Amino acid sequence: MNKEGLILIVDDDISSTKILRHLFRDIYEIEEAVNGQDALAIIEQKADALSAIILDVYMPVMDGYTVLERISGNEKWKNIPVIVMTSESAVESDQKLFDLGAHQIVHKPINAGIVKKQIHNIVKAYEKHKDFIQISGLERTLIHNTTNTFICVYDFHKKTAELGDNYQNFVSAEFQKVFAQYPFQIENYVLPKNLETARHFFDVEHKTEEYEEIEIRLRVDTVHYKWFKISMLLNNEGNGYRDHAVILFTDIEKEVEAKEKLTFMAMNDMLTHIPNMRTFSIHVRKMLDENPNEKFYMLTMDLYQFNLVNKLFGYGEGDAILKYFATKIQELIEAYDKGVYCRMASDIFYACFSEQEDLQEYLRVLRASLRSYPIKFELRLCAGIYIIEDKSENVENMIDCATYARNEAKRGLLHEEQYYDEHLREKEYFETMVISEMEQALESEQFEVFLQPQYDTFYEKMIGSEALIRWNHPQKGYLSPGIFIPLFEQNGFITELDYYVLKVVCRTIRSWSDRGIEVLPVSVNVSRCDLYDSNLIERILKTVNAYQVPHDMVEFEITESAFISEKELLTEFTVNLRKEGFRVLIDDFGSGYSALNSLKDIQVDVLKIDIKFLPASIKEARASIILKSIIEMAQKLGLDVIAEGVEQKEQVELLETLCCDKVQGFYYARPMPIADYEEKVQSNNREKEHWGNE
Ligand code: C2E
Ligand code: MG
Ligand code: MG
Repeated sequence: MNKEGLILIVDDDISSTKILRHLFRDIYEIEEAVNGQDALAIIEQKADALSAIILDVYMPVMDGYTVLERISGNEKWKNIPVIVMTSESAVESDQKLFDLGAHQIVHKPINAGIVKKQIHNIVKAYEKHKDFIQISGLERTLIHNTTNTFICVYDFHKKTAELGDNYQNFVSAEFQKVFAQYPFQIENYVLPKNLETARHFFDVEHKTEEYEEIEIRLRVDTVHYKWFKISMLLNNEGNGYRDHAVILFTDIEKEVEAKEKLTFMAMNDMLTHIPNMRTFSIHVRKMLDENPNEKFYMLTMDLYQFNLVNKLFGYGEGDAILKYFATKIQELIEAYDKGVYCRMASDIFYACFSEQEDLQEYLRVLRASLRSYPIKFELRLCAGIYIIEDKSENVENMIDCATYARNEAKRGLLHEEQYYDEHLREKEYFETMVISEMEQALESEQFEVFLQPQYDTFYEKMIGSEALIRWNHPQKGYLSPGIFIPLFEQNGFITELDYYVLKVVCRTIRSWSDRGIEVLPVSVNVSRCDLYDSNLIERILKTVNAYQVPHDMVEFEITESAFISEKELLTEFTVNLRKEGFRVLIDDFGSGYSALNSLKDIQVDVLKIDIKFLPASIKEARASIILKSIIEMAQKLGLDVIAEGVEQKEQVELLETLCCDKVQGFYYARPMPIADYEEKVQSNNREKEHWGNE
């Protein structure tokens, strides 16, 4: 069994030694001596291991007083607790023993139970702090250069302090002035922020705790501070008087740095170094609780089509933009009285600030800084705003509401910000459904290609069709592309869907050919997102050629807005398509963006004018003037024009007067399933044959 320590019993009275041995033999190792001289010989050998000495006063050869004197006078031994047994009961004799360094006095005849307890307590306390106490002795020199610690020993009797020789490895030489007098002159050496704590800690003379620690920053040279752990052990004399305090200064700069780094990592976003979502939630909650009578904005922001920045310019550039944007958000919010912000993930940032601040101005400044970022890409900020009325709501909920609003803002071309309102949540549910089901829907052929016939009014015949996608949802019925295409453009699924449409169109043309049905060109819509697929042309060619479809039977429509935002990609795309013999159409020409300018740089074959995009009613002179000039310009440029969205007889008549004879619209036919379209082509041909035979 491991014993708790080693005790030396020094007594010439064999019977008393016997009692003590009996008392302690199970707990401690025991050494015995019958006089002072033998005792000193044992102490000499085993000082390090000794936990306590039980010493009789009157002995032959050398008495207890002399032993006590020797022990106290020896730096290495002086802290070993000495419990003196005496048969004298005079106070003066006790005082003398204490003065000589006794820790405890036990009067003979001893009470075994009490002595056992007393000695046990003393040994326990000594063992606990033995290392410190030893350091305060000769060992203090050992820590010179070998550890990250220096030592200071304060003597309560002399009221002086002594520093370990190695202290200059840590702090400047003047540091010793701190301890030149009591109270210690710490003011110039402790970071002002830590001064109060330090003062309290160094008030050694009024301490009640035996052992204490603090972590504060100390000045190590003229300007720099470093973190130190300061541990202090107060050593009492056995009589309850203070003897000395051992103060250890441990340089913990590296540990604190590592700890701070960890805390920083836990609280902040690693890329931008601004707070992360966790910190944001905590700070928002605190800010709301502290300002119960104020309203706040919850704002979520992201950059429109930021994934394209990564694709086109690489992740390095993407990261640089995020960092730049984060500092702008930070600069703005930090100027506010009450405001917090964070980066949630990728290009998503949150901010929450008082309604008294100017939200519009905030967004304006952020947008301006994005515009001034040097990149050939329009960095557009989308923002969702939720006004926090009920502060008891949880923060995640508030963020959700602002996020619904942001998603809504994203959809509009011009609506770059949106306030939250209740119906958005329902819409969001619906959209989540759309996104979660899209892949499965494509696999199970829920997407159906409809064809809308196009006519030549002059020759009165069908000249082709446009392929338009429909989602035949098992529960919700037919969903129009206006609902799901903007979502698919956001998540990139549109490219898969467009390939699917192209495949169905090619397969259909092949089957018309094989079944002897007249083949007329079919145009398919190309989303601007498709342009970022680097294999676009190869994939198109592969599909068209796989079904052996003549290239003049498939046409490609691209909306006008792409002619501005994706001009370079589009130029390359149209050049390659036309080289392969495909016709290219500009869809929705005149729908709001001035594509006229692009016409000089990008070669296309057909302008598709959607009549509903013309300003005001078609009856108005201005509208017809615009239409007329577009048609004339197209003719001069050698481009075909096709008018779509034709619904009324007057529109047909107007188009006739303007010599625009290619049309598509409900007036003639709605988009229809392929089988219906085939039926229409065949019946048209039967009619023609019928007339031809007459
Ligand atoms: P779009 O390419 O401009 O297609 C014409 C839209 O106008 C179609 O709407 C068509 O049904 C509708 N339309 C045709 N005639 C009339 C008319 O007389 N009056 C009115 N009010 N509307 C008429 P739809 O099918 O809802 O498609 C909407 C848009 O969705 C399309 O506009 C196109 O941009 C997009 N889209 C449809 N299918 C696809 C597709 O397969 N791929 C891609 N990328 N986009 C598609
Ligand atoms: Mg179209
Ligand atoms: Mg159109």
